[in-house]
Amino acid sequence: MKFAVSSLALALSLSLVSPALAQTAPTAADADKFVAAAEKELGDFTIFNAQVSWINQTYITDDTDAVAARVGAQGTELGVRYATEAAKYQAIPNLSYDTKRKLDLLRGGLTLPAPTTEGAAVELNTIATRLQSAYGKGKVTDKLWAQVKPLYDQLHCYTRTKLNEKYGDAVQAKTGPIRADLLGNMWAQEWGNIYEIVAPKGAGDIGYDTGELLKSKGYDPIKMVRTGEGFYKSLGFDPLPETFWQRSQITKPADREVVCHASAWDLDNVDDLRIKMCTKVNADDFRTIHHELGHNFYQRAYNKQPLLYLNGANDGFHEAIGDFIALSITPQYLVQIGLLDADKVPSADKDVGLLLRQAMDKVAFLPFGLLVDKYRWDIFAGKTPIGQYNKAWTDLRLKYQGIIPPVPRDETNFDAGAKYHVPGNVPYTRYFLARILQFQFYKAACDIAKWKGPLHRCSFYGNKEVGARLNAMLAMGASKPWPDALQAFTGSREMDGTAMVAYFKPLMTWLKQQNKGKTCNW
Ligand SMILES: [Zn+2]
Repeated sequence: MKFAVSSLALALSLSLVSPALAQTAPTAADADKFVAAAEKELGDFTIFNAQVSWINQTYITDDTDAVAARVGAQGTELGVRYATEAAKYQAIPNLSYDTKRKLDLLRGGLTLPAPTTEGAAVELNTIATRLQSAYGKGKVTDKLWAQVKPLYDQLHCYTRTKLNEKYGDAVQAKTGPIRADLLGNMWAQEWGNIYEIVAPKGAGDIGYDTGELLKSKGYDPIKMVRTGEGFYKSLGFDPLPETFWQRSQITKPADREVVCHASAWDLDNVDDLRIKMCTKVNADDFRTIHHELGHNFYQRAYNKQPLLYLNGANDGFHEAIGDFIALSITPQYLVQIGLLDADKVPSADKDVGLLLRQAMDKVAFLPFGLLVDKYRWDIFAGKTPIGQYNKAWTDLRLKYQGIIPPVPRDETNFDAGAKYHVPGNVPYTRYFLARILQFQFYKAACDIAKWKGPLHRCSFYGNKEVGARLNAMLAMGASKPWPDALQAFTGSREMDGTAMVAYFKPLMTWLKQQNKGKTCNW
């Protein structure tokens, strides 16, 4: 994840920026002034807020908690007022492109407020509608889902068979939905934890373990981060600043409580880039480092943009950058950086194991990533009646994921509330989009690098042309609509799930063989 400085609910004393002429209707010049003042003040606030959050997360005490909570609450409350203020300028004729876009971003920076005040329900509805239209009224996500659903269906079918073999008919039937509690994750959203149960005989073991390789070559956490940085440098990106190494939290401090959840930061909106991790020498953290640095290099690439454009092109982009680079940790890449001996590169018959392990997380996640916002948007739009909030959740889980709760549920339960993002009002479609986009980015990079061979084996390490094209997209930040940014790197203006399908093609073929003769639906 990234610590989002610019997309936080934004704080500012509105009296400072309201135009003086309250009696007359505001003009385009007033709107320009409002936006300029907003960016100045917000710049100061976001930096202060980032500093407070950094101190809190790397040094947890009752006091740093209290200070962070206070600044956070200030940001939330004032952010709502800011969005409201921006709305007043929206309809002014002849606004410049940037002023119009920045007013939209100010309004869009509003996450959903609790409906405690009069009129809040109406506002919620307006926001929910806007959220939907932001993704083409769900049409984009529906198209993407249709592209990748056949792959999910095969994975579901195969996993159900394996669970049936392990637990028997009384626990998991051969047909119908899968029992949610068997999938190794509290929300049944990613299934990698039960890989042991589904691992194919022989192909499950790829012959090396990245963590063991790192240990045997004497890597420590710093060297792992240096290696991650090396990937980006090989594409032509400048080295990280010296302050990155002085100020980052790369390992867990021995003497105090910290938040270990990995995140990437830009504290001054320029080049005070940092990561915060509790790095251990293992394969997961090696991948996470490549992911987090993706955020940092994105933040730096767009640092010449005005404050309100200091963000990813859309919600999905920021997470997808780090993930697509992390996809490049292929056996071939490990050879190139001297971690793996060339004769240890696993042969093609191990591909199914490699791909299935990834699919259990990345493919299994897709319907869940899709349904969380569908669930909320239906509630905000009034389509889901009060008194059916739990039923609506269970129904969507069955429809999209093909899973059912292990015991009967009713309206005294609120299962959706167990997912942090639902009560926390964190938009969720971004995670669905990021899963799709990372493969689209990866395929674009491999095409630029003129990769020949199975897509999942592609490494574009060291390719300067990929770096230049990638940088063109990253440097745009949020200054243009996301299709413009997507086009700068991939040549396409549409998000597309076919790259993900191409990546998993050998697995799809294999799954179909395994599922032969079975009824693959629920
Ligand atoms: Zn991230």
